[in-house]
Amino acid sequence: MKVFRCGDVVPGCTTELRGDDEEAVLEAVERHARAQHGVAPDAELVGVVRDRVREG
Ligand SMILES: [Zn+2]
Repeated sequence: MKVFRCGDVVPGCTTELRGDDEEAVLEAVERHARAQHGVAPDAELVGVVRDRVREG
């Protein structure tokens, strides 16, 4: 299981996105970013997320 803490990028956000692998986490992050933050992840943000995905 992989996990990404949105708060690592968006101060104050306590959401954690989980998935079986990095791609699944990225999909969850994209849905969360659109729904909660009104943004669509661009290549730069995807890179940041990949750097910060941890085993969880
Ligand atoms: Zn968030």
